[in-house]
Amino acid sequence: MTSGGPGLGDRLALVADQVAGAASAAGRDPSTITTIVVTKFHPAALVRELHGLGVRDVGENRHQEAQAKSAELADLEGLRWHFVGQLQSKKARQARRYAHAVHSLDRESVVRAIADDADGLVVDGFVQVALDDDPGRGGVPVPDVERLVELVLASPGLRLRGVMAVAPLGEPARAAFARLRAVSDRVRALDPGADAISAGMSQDHADAVAEGATHLRIGTAVTGPRPPAP
Ligand SMILES: *Cc1c(COP(=O)(O)O)cnc(C)c1O
Repeated sequence: MTSGGPGLGDRLALVADQVAGAASAAGRDPSTITTIVVTKFHPAALVRELHGLGVRDVGENRHQEAQAKSAELADLEGLRWHFVGQLQSKKARQARRYAHAVHSLDRESVVRAIADDADGLVVDGFVQVALDDDPGRGGVPVPDVERLVELVLASPGLRLRGVMAVAPLGEPARAAFARLRAVSDRVRALDPGADAISAGMSQDHADAVAEGATHLRIGTAVTGPRPPAP
């Protein structure tokens, strides 16, 4: 720490307090909520520091960066890498080597590319749902969710965990997360075990917890400002 302001450990503790507060306000057990610290653009050294503070779930949104960091940090015990960014089909298969979970299954081509279980691994998968009409933000349109879910369920190399979304711009996050929760209900009708909801970032994690999120993807609130993209 150089500035004398709050350090990494302080921010981590503050976010944990906020999550616990939002959980208890919603009548939920905080231990059912996993906070993934999104470390994109930050050096591997920051991930090492987070691991030393007890963090076991980290998120990345670019394949090359995730691959390099996970290789560099292979000695860290129990660390799980979550891929949260848009994935190209070409890279999807390679992501199996380091990813514990992929949160961005939003197209048939990506699911097919990542589904091959010749490596004997099973990767956790979240179907990313579009909560608005902006294709740049990724996600399968709500009416097409069942079809993609069925494809994931038929893929031996994937274990469907549930749904994921990024809150759209220009509307209150809570209303959007309520729609995601309704989609989650439909997914659970197809597979009762696929009950996870990956939603909530630095600015809206309390709203996500209020609407049932089980996996929060929190970057800057824990890490501080991101360096420019490498
Ligand atoms: C970067 C990113 C996050 C974290 O965003 P913050 O605003 O820094 O918390 C969460 N989810 C996805 C998909 C991201 O790309």
